[in-house]
Amino acid sequence: MKEVSKNRKFSRSYSRLIVLVCLLCGSAALWLMLRRQQTKPGGNAPQVSEKRTPPTDPAREAPPRTRVLTPALPNNAVRTLSSEKFRARFSARVERREVESVLRTLEAARADVQHRTAAAALHQSEQSPLDIVIHDTTGDFVAATGQPWWAAAVTHDNQIELQPLEILRSRGVLNQTLRHEYAHTIIDQLSHGRAPRWLAEGLAAHIAGEGALLAQEKVTEELTVEELERRLSHPASPEEMHKLYAAAYKEVQQLIRTEGEASVWRRLVQE
Ligand SMILES: [Zn+2]
Repeated sequence: MKEVSKNRKFSRSYSRLIVLVCLLCGSAALWLMLRRQQTKPGGNAPQVSEKRTPPTDPAREAPPRTRVLTPALPNNAVRTLSSEKFRARFSARVERREVESVLRTLEAARADVQHRTAAAALHQSEQSPLDIVIHDTTGDFVAATGQPWWAAAVTHDNQIELQPLEILRSRGVLNQTLRHEYAHTIIDQLSHGRAPRWLAEGLAAHIAGEGALLAQEKVTEELTVEELERRLSHPASPEEMHKLYAAAYKEVQQLIRTEGEASVWRRLVQE
């Protein structure tokens, strides 16, 4: 598959892990885009502050672990807008009110996830602010992240990189994408990056509210979690990834029904 071979350029093990996670997220995003499901904006208005900064040197800004994947925004001067726990970086081409809406959604997602993890007696350490990079164009996103054009977003370390907001909004996947990616940051944090793919993707989809859409995907094969995990690591095609995503979501839903969501969250620290 084109996307996978492209990402094999990153030979170190951490790059491989990041790319695999991102491809799966992108797969879900594509799946969601194709269905053009509309979502509603949510959350309360964040307290935001804005400042403008000149373009930064990515070699100086980014730690070595992410340098290859996270160059600075390529066009125009970088602006920042912050809420309590998030810091968005974007160019002058992006409207401030759009960024405010993104921050509101993320703050609402954070409050929601905090409530869920607290119910599981888990503590989220706040690595704030969480950086949100909003790219001007799909070309910029692809060039900066190495992801395929159809990927909606990439999450790695303490940063979420997004396709242009108007694209995500027009496809009706903006809020779900933000919630899904934020969930990944917490899942990674709690599991120290060791959560199985099926559990991470299924739980992120659950938190993002993607169930109604994923339920439309017919899961025709009964896979063990071991087989699901194996195939998620080497999907043969985007279409297969969509089905594996739906299977992962189904597995997590089954766990939630049988042992409760709090127990599923606690699995992350026990895996
Ligand atoms: Zn994902």
